[in-house]
Amino acid sequence: MPVDLLGDTPPAAPARQPLCPVCRKPLRRIEGRMGPFWGCTGYPDCKTTLFDLDGKPSKVPDERYRCPVCTRRLVRAQNAQGAYWYCTGYDKACKTRLADDNGVPAKAWRCPSCGQLLKRRRGRNGYFWGCSQYPECRHTWPDKDGAPVITS
Ligand SMILES: [Zn+2]
Ligand SMILES: [Zn+2]
Ligand SMILES: [Zn+2]
Repeated sequence: MPVDLLGDTPPAAPARQPLCPVCRKPLRRIEGRMGPFWGCTGYPDCKTTLFDLDGKPSKVPDERYRCPVCTRRLVRAQNAQGAYWYCTGYDKACKTRLADDNGVPAKAWRCPSCGQLLKRRRGRNGYFWGCSQYPECRHTWPDKDGAPVITS
């Protein structure tokens, strides 16, 4: 039987197909409960997983998508009102939810007093920022161009 000298070489992967850094098998993108990530198609022999960064596998998590309160990962979700982001620490009592700003979490500000998120509210004299923990935390800040003016 003729020996196929190329037989030991894995077939060339299609261009741009990310490969497992451990076993060189293709990776696949998995929509997990905690958001998308990449797993090895060699699973369960190879249990390599990687973070998802802009649709590509990455060894480091995307810091843009970190909860501003507890630094856990944020996950994009969709409801009837549109896309939003929630913190994967929700089962650890982190209630952070952020609006979606063109596919990334909208910028958020933390209350200097209690560390929770501020919320933009509309009052009689226009917009202002109050703590999301109102009425437990009653700090407020003026609004300037959609951002809180935090003076203390
Ligand atoms: Zn692998
Ligand atoms: Zn959080
Ligand atoms: Zn507060």
